[in-house]
Amino acid sequence: MKKIDIHAHAIPSDPTMDRYVSIMDRHEVSAALVHGIPEERRDNPDVLRAVKAHPGRLFGSVHVDLRDPREECVEAVKRYAGEGFRSIKLFPNLGFDPNDEQFEPFWQVVEDLALLCFSHCGWITNGGTWARRRLSSLTATPFHFELPARRFPGIRFIFGHFGGGASYLETVTLISRLPNAFADTCPGWGRWVFEQRMPGLSGLDFRHVLFGTDNAGEEYSEYEKWWTETFLSMGRTEEDLRFYFYENAASLLGIHV
Ligand SMILES: [Zn+2]
Repeated sequence: MKKIDIHAHAIPSDPTMDRYVSIMDRHEVSAALVHGIPEERRDNPDVLRAVKAHPGRLFGSVHVDLRDPREECVEAVKRYAGEGFRSIKLFPNLGFDPNDEQFEPFWQVVEDLALLCFSHCGWITNGGTWARRRLSSLTATPFHFELPARRFPGIRFIFGHFGGGASYLETVTLISRLPNAFADTCPGWGRWVFEQRMPGLSGLDFRHVLFGTDNAGEEYSEYEKWWTETFLSMGRTEEDLRFYFYENAASLLGIHV
């Protein structure tokens, strides 16, 4: 089935992502939204290089750390929107609360530029690159986007990892009630909540659920099989699957279906 990966990242060993796009070809992944990471702060040269090399296949999402001065955040968002980026990427675990009133002028800019807002949500490990850092999941759950989602209905918010493990019910609440709230099912918590058949997932509106993988690579087809079997066993339809794998993301990215 045709797929779009709403949750991908640049690959240092494959700077233009040529190899990655040929993997996407092998697995019927027609496009991916490539997000900057906290290490890139407001400068996302890796994402920009890849997106420029694959127009129409890779779409850009600029990482912004809202602890930085507002003018610098706004400048970065405007600059990358000018390069054709479709989204901003946030990582609130760094220590800011997206609900904070002080960010309203920033959200106004994001809405005016018709950008998506994709956020990492949920708990993260304390190993590897995250070891010993001051990171908390307390401000990185969907309810911390409730105010901007209400105040700026023109921004479509996407919660990565289905909003996190413990906080997935916040995702269910917001995507069931707010037309501009969406979530991906990216591993770990995004897959975990479905593996566990957690309460509340069976009634979801599949127009608000998106395929995202954190770069599944050669495992794309296995992911497709796993999600297809899981969703069908939960009573979802083939039409739900089409929206989940492709059509919801195509519509968010402005790709003509
Ligand atoms: Zn990611």
